Amino acid sequence: MTDTGSTARLCEEAAANVAQAAAAIDMEPKVRSILARPMNELIINFPVERDSGEYELLQGYRIQHNNVLGPYKGGIRFHPGLDLDEVRALATWMTFKCALLQLPFGGAKGGVAIDPGAFSEAELERVVRRFTHSLGQNIGPEYDIPAPDMGTDARTMGWMKDTYLNSRGPGERQNARRVVTGKPVELGGSLGRDSATGRGAAYALRHLYGELDRTLEGQSAAIQGFGNVGSHAAIAMSELGMKIVAVADVSGVVHDPAGLDIKKLLEHAQDRGGVAGFSPADLLTADEFFALDVDVLVPAALEAQITAANVDSIRARAIVEAANGPITAEASAVLEHGGVHVIPDILANAGGVVVSYYEWVQNKTSDKWSAADVDARLRDAMWEAADRVALTRAARGCSRRQAAYIEAATLLQSVYGLRGIFP
Ligand code: GLU
Repeated sequence: MTDTGSTARLCEEAAANVAQAAAAIDMEPKVRSILARPMNELIINFPVERDSGEYELLQGYRIQHNNVLGPYKGGIRFHPGLDLDEVRALATWMTFKCALLQLPFGGAKGGVAIDPGAFSEAELERVVRRFTHSLGQNIGPEYDIPAPDMGTDARTMGWMKDTYLNSRGPGERQNARRVVTGKPVELGGSLGRDSATGRGAAYALRHLYGELDRTLEGQSAAIQGFGNVGSHAAIAMSELGMKIVAVADVSGVVHDPAGLDIKKLLEHAQDRGGVAGFSPADLLTADEFFALDVDVLVPAALEAQITAANVDSIRARAIVEAANGPITAEASAVLEHGGVHVIPDILANAGGVVVSYYEWVQNKTSDKWSAADVDARLRDAMWEAADRVALTRAARGCSRRQAAYIEAATLLQSVYGLRGIFP
């Protein structure tokens, strides 16, 4: 996001998601007011040395929205337009995502307002290490556990882990490695973590098709975003027999009505830095991409991609929100009215934090699970949450998004009810 007007709107939308669910379950006013604001908000201004020898002052954030269910949990985003409002919205969504999946985690999000592509690897390492050091005791293996998000990856988590561990006493280090998840496997990461968000989205879609009594075999899909989430969603959806007819990323949009060869497209994107130039494929504009006559649309990039301005052009019958907040509230209402099935972000992209939880448990128990075991557990977790959302939707006659928030809010309310509010 690049302007504060639109990030302020994201924040309002996150607040509206919470307020609607609170109203639907008649949430106690005191719980409602706690959930309406993040518990802690941290702004960190820190200097980083560029390769030129000059120092640049960067701004980073960590917003801890809620920890009633367990340690704060959520990604670290590197993006040039990142600001406090965007991080607030993302942190709020994490609280509800973890509650919906019934994970023993709260919600948080953080990041640094930089374009990671404009930094060398050595500079990025300095950014990550200095930011982690500045976070200090505000993160911790039983307190607040970062993970990758847009613009960050396993390598980032490796640097965060190493920096954090080096600030601990030698006797505490092994126990502290679960301070971050999404680490490289060699550093204690879980098998299947990198593909988890994309695979989870595909499992949620399979559940939706089950609800509709239909099969995914031969269904066409268009995917916006070909990073970690979009590329793994494309692979998983192809494995389920779907035809990926279009993929969009920052370099452009490629389209082949006969279905793109995802494996070859991945190799191309890795070599060339994006999907543009892939052959055989037509190049489309972003507007043409959203207007494609496909069965399923998967926004797996930034927030606010489907808005009042382009929602009327959408012809897909189902949308999987693999990104966080890709559809504005206004556009959501139009889609709901038009009978488009939307799998909301807090369900659709929850696979990442689900496997982050598995990584945290494996670290805590010094265990190592096989890729097949992780994938089977992920599939079951997504299935079980999708079942609960479907039941709530049927019982209340509401949208899937409202049902997902109601599910999460019900758990949060009941935990506050049982614990009470101190003192
Ligand atoms: N950044 C991911 C998300 O938005 C994953 C968070 C995590 O694994 O903690 O859900």
